Amino acid sequence: MKQSLLMKPITGLFIVFLFQIILASSIFGQATNNVVIDLSKEITNDKIQVEIHDLNFKKNRDTLFFPAVVLGMYEENNFGQYIDEIKVSYVNGDIKTIKSTKQNLFILKDAAEVTKVSYWAKSTINNKSLFLPAGSFFEQHGAFLLNFHSLVPYSKSTMNNSYKITIKRNNEITAVGALPIKSIEEEDKDIITAADYHELIDSPFLYSKFKAKDTTSIRLKHGIIQIAIAPNIYNLDAEYIKKTIAPVLNVLEKDSLFSTLFEDKYCLLFGFTDEYSHNTGALEHNKSSVYIFNDTNDFDNKLKEFVAHEILHILTPLNLRSERIDAFDFNSPLFSKHLWLYEGVTEYLAMKANMNAKLIDTLQFFKQLRMNYNYGKESNIKSLTQFSENILDKRHQENYGAIYTQGAITAFYLDYLFAKESGGELGISDLLAYAMKSASTDGVFNEETFFQDLEDEFPIVKDFFENMIISSNKSPFHDYLNQLGVSFKKDTIQRSKTYFTYGLRRIDYRLPKYIVIKNQELNDSLGIKKLKIHKINGKTVKYADSWKLFSPKSNEVLKIKIKKGFKFKTIEISPFKRSYHYYPEHLKIDDLENNILNRILKFGIEQ
Ligand SMILES: [Zn+2]
Repeated sequence: MKQSLLMKPITGLFIVFLFQIILASSIFGQATNNVVIDLSKEITNDKIQVEIHDLNFKKNRDTLFFPAVVLGMYEENNFGQYIDEIKVSYVNGDIKTIKSTKQNLFILKDAAEVTKVSYWAKSTINNKSLFLPAGSFFEQHGAFLLNFHSLVPYSKSTMNNSYKITIKRNNEITAVGALPIKSIEEEDKDIITAADYHELIDSPFLYSKFKAKDTTSIRLKHGIIQIAIAPNIYNLDAEYIKKTIAPVLNVLEKDSLFSTLFEDKYCLLFGFTDEYSHNTGALEHNKSSVYIFNDTNDFDNKLKEFVAHEILHILTPLNLRSERIDAFDFNSPLFSKHLWLYEGVTEYLAMKANMNAKLIDTLQFFKQLRMNYNYGKESNIKSLTQFSENILDKRHQENYGAIYTQGAITAFYLDYLFAKESGGELGISDLLAYAMKSASTDGVFNEETFFQDLEDEFPIVKDFFENMIISSNKSPFHDYLNQLGVSFKKDTIQRSKTYFTYGLRRIDYRLPKYIVIKNQELNDSLGIKKLKIHKINGKTVKYADSWKLFSPKSNEVLKIKIKKGFKFKTIEISPFKRSYHYYPEHLKIDDLENNILNRILKFGIEQ
């Protein structure tokens, strides 16, 4: 397939790229899945109308599925639950309403006679348990996030055909997303094209009335990175995101693995919600990643932590993955044993990339490793491969963060082994390079023989796989640090830091009504157990404002409206001083010329 790139400025700095692509359908004469999504109407009840035309079913019975699980998510989300009132139109004019037979599954009778399927797709935002970047929302402060797995079903008979998605919209909003998109301005619609269902749901879109500061782009040697923010409720400048992440992109670009895999266009889609949620974070795709946060606190660190990780997924699993991931069944998924690779190695490489970009220093790098080691020890996983394969089990779900922490420290061990064995010549990236070369052209390896294939090439990894991955009974962090001549040292002189506080210990969000705080002094003086705050400084308490309670200025008196029994009353709280003592920590490196250590500290493989 050959693509030619045209550029057309639409509004301000915002640029839409029109790719002319030759779809598989036109070559093989397969029918295109034709879907119309309507964003143009006023949104009521948080749902939008979707229609599927030209279904081209050949059999008398076919089934429409919505994914139960999508790639990158290690839990069941059952996207069929967001679909309402499916109506099926037949060639003879009949219209029938159908219900799901099983969750996520809709059976179509007389499928060959079906001319149209229409339904309402609900916003996922009210489901507090869904990871926000995996969902769809409509008109949240004017923005729409479209994750097609919650909007468009697949049929096993047509999911490998191409998709044409027509988005009807008002003329004020425009889109950012990785797939080819063609705007037909006079008709207020966009046409998005995808080669198949996998590509479609791998490509979320963000729609908004973007202002100049909501979007920007970074040109790299082999492609362009687009940044978009919507809804931009905290009034961030996309240029600020660009400036923060540019150093790490420069590091990635110099790596021969990354630079050969990164091409064309990659979109960083940011969105914010002012409601409390613990389901914020980021989700990776081949050519984009979605970031949803509910505040901008510590945003620099979030950017460092998330962007490098998501973009590095381009290496694995996106270009190095097991056949189980490649042939992922969205409704009866078979999980791969190799999450240690997809998430652990990615997390470790992100830390290294950030260090090489000078976004964190060597001390922070080793501190992060130590933290991962400690968490890993706590989570006490007996086998990383078994844990991966059974990630949907309840006991693993509760502990699933361990795949990141123990996975990352395990990647460090592997990096160390390679560097040590080769006298500082090789590192973990060389193992990845070899694995990619041995995998099929699009990076797919055999789930069962993966370890064996690597052991044949690098005998040293045999013991590592057996004792640190297949059974995770060794975690030689301190031993390896010793061998590297790296140690943490504490100053002998104690320091102290003074800060202001309202004495707050814990906060529970019961928004939009109130928040509950634990503040021993206040609770005691008022004679109540739980302090319910309904207003702060006369304003109904919002998630973002609640942060005022954590970081007071020295003289900031807050008026809080609380409820005691059935009565409301307003009281004033004043900050008071507290301090803590600590011994600053630094890193002692015995030999700065140590080849092995220097290989570990270096990112990737230079071109
Ligand atoms: Zn990840």
